[in-house]
Amino acid sequence: MSQKTHCLIIGSGPAGYTAAIYASRAGLKPMMVAGLQPGGQLTITTEVENYPGYPNGIQGPEMMEHFRKQAERFGTEIKWSYVSSVDFSKAPFKVTVEEKETILADTVIIATGASAKWLGLPSEQRLNGFGVSACAVCDGYFFKGQDVAIVGGGDTAAEESTYLAKLCRKVYLLVRKDALRASKAMQNRVMNTPNIEVLFNSETLEITGEKAVEGARILNNKTKEEKNLKITGFFVAIGHKPNTDIFKNWLDMDELGYLKTIPGSTRTKIPGVFACGDSQDRIYRQAVTAAGSGCMAALDAERYLASIEA
Ligand code: NDP
Repeated sequence: MSQKTHCLIIGSGPAGYTAAIYASRAGLKPMMVAGLQPGGQLTITTEVENYPGYPNGIQGPEMMEHFRKQAERFGTEIKWSYVSSVDFSKAPFKVTVEEKETILADTVIIATGASAKWLGLPSEQRLNGFGVSACAVCDGYFFKGQDVAIVGGGDTAAEESTYLAKLCRKVYLLVRKDALRASKAMQNRVMNTPNIEVLFNSETLEITGEKAVEGARILNNKTKEEKNLKITGFFVAIGHKPNTDIFKNWLDMDELGYLKTIPGSTRTKIPGVFACGDSQDRIYRQAVTAAGSGCMAALDAERYLASIEA
């Protein structure tokens, strides 16, 4: 038997929960499918200090608990499950949960987020949250005055290395090839920052440290020389992957998989289907911008429902 809802929200990060708060307060009685990582990327960070309204900062998981409680307070029904496929061929849209249960939805708000890519080293996993991070803007502050390394050669790594350079004593930028992929302007900024040292042809073999990061073993893939960097922070900036695979046959996306929305809105090319948060944002990717676009999606859904009922 299938369930029916006016508004189905897929994903439970800041975008999904904000959409849920707005949609439930608007009387849409939304249903949310929380996904495989309830709470999203913030549940794997520690302290969040840049979300407005928390003057003393807050732990990421605790903040997401607040989001959840606020969404539930207004009547959002949350399913602790994941969406396995969608059928957007006609409204009501058919959304399949865990390959068995079907939900029919008049509107769908996609808030599935993105996942940071990782190098795949066991030491990176072990020290994640203990000096290893995939977000310099979130965690850079904790390494004030210290020496850190950041991996990557694209715009994100270039931008984040200059961000870190303002806070840290020294920043090693570890680039696997002999050139940066980042735009020329960003490359110039990196090269003109005195406390950034770019190490080309550099691969990370291991991040060292028992309970927290103490260093990294780096291999020069040209000379085959190995060296140990003494660092307390290790940042990974090798790209993100939006969690949009299940929408491939239905919605337009860019070459990286980010969903395309009509500028100035969260509308996709299918009326009644909206996208918000990191699933459609390759540039800003902040909790607060995700929350803002979640609000937009709920308002867009509400207006769409009003227009088809009129
Ligand atoms: P990119 O995909 O552009 O770059 C990823 C970088 O990580 C590449 O240099 C790549 O190396 C390197 N890399 C990938 N895998 C590994 C690995 N296993 N080990 C070591 N290095 C690895 O991702 P970005 O996040 O930098 O950027 C994504 C998009 O967002 C881009 O289009 C970018 O222009 C845009 N962006 C724009 C900004 C702005 O305009 N202000 C700011 C940030 C991003 P290699 O070069 O060898 O392949």
